[in-house]
Amino acid sequence: MIVVMKPDATMTQIEHMADQITRLGLSPQVIHGKHQTVIAALGEERQGLIEALEPGEGVEKVLPIMAPYKRASSELKKERTVVAARSLEVGGTKIAMIAGPCSVESEEQIVSLAKTLKALGATGLRGGAFKPRTSPYSFQGHKEEGLKMLAAARAETGLAIVTEVMAPEHVPMVAEYADVLQIGARNMQNYQLLQAVGDSGKAALLKRGMSATVEEFLLAAEYILDRGNPNVMLCERGIRTFEDHTRFTLPLATVPYLNEKSHLPVVVDPSHGTGKSRLVAPMARAAVAAGADGLILEVHDDPEHAMSDGAQSITPATFKQLVDQCRRIAAAVDRTV
Ligand code: PEP
Ligand code: MN
Repeated sequence: MIVVMKPDATMTQIEHMADQITRLGLSPQVIHGKHQTVIAALGEERQGLIEALEPGEGVEKVLPIMAPYKRASSELKKERTVVAARSLEVGGTKIAMIAGPCSVESEEQIVSLAKTLKALGATGLRGGAFKPRTSPYSFQGHKEEGLKMLAAARAETGLAIVTEVMAPEHVPMVAEYADVLQIGARNMQNYQLLQAVGDSGKAALLKRGMSATVEEFLLAAEYILDRGNPNVMLCERGIRTFEDHTRFTLPLATVPYLNEKSHLPVVVDPSHGTGKSRLVAPMARAAVAAGADGLILEVHDDPEHAMSDGAQSITPATFKQLVDQCRRIAAAVDRTV
């Protein structure tokens, strides 16, 4: 429910309505807009709420929030959310470029790659220390040692670190090193993990589950927002379809659709979305044209010998060319890189 206050409503009236919402068993969230204040009344909607809230002093009108996701919905918040973490800003005019290897392999690798990527225009550094692998026999990541390597790369470059956290009990440890906590596709509906990331207050990059609908995706984001953490980025990384010419199918219509339904920034991952390095740059360019707020790209200086996802990793040279192309495409859609 959204309680829209009159433009001349007083603070006392606003506070009174917030108390009234609490008394009705809902949780109030006061949003001060340019022209008027609205109070979101969040919780399970039931009959009689509009009637209970509408007569309040200073109230202009009460509207239901139609979307099942409330805090993530653009019905509730019109202004776009900008998520900021160190060097990284996602959701503003400038398009974020998060780049790095699939896995953190060694300190020398990540530090040297981070320096190269920073010089080429990256605004964030990705790298997995905890790796969710399809087979238990594949490399699972360097874990806390890997996080330390990422921290060393940040110390050298200032680049914000985006890295995956796989378990709720690891959140405090990963949050000690990371600037952005990535929730992987396989964990999109791990509700305890979503809540723990919400409680950490750290910026979150939530990847779409490979079999999740957009509504389920936004409801997963809602779990983080519901813990009072507004710093959520949505990441389209491709879904599973009958198609097998690519590793996943990357549905770019999700980008304008999410931009319409939600105020949260949208990041596209064309590396996992295609699984093929030669398809990454074209889909990255298309994502920028479609209105993405950022890209997350797997870049490796020697893809052939990468410890994971080499087939979908681009080289720094390709990244350089891509940044330049994205800059030109961004200008066409009134953005910058
Ligand atoms: C990754 O970013 O390396 C990763 C495992 O991504 P996803 O969860 O989208 O598969
Ligand atoms: Mn990967």
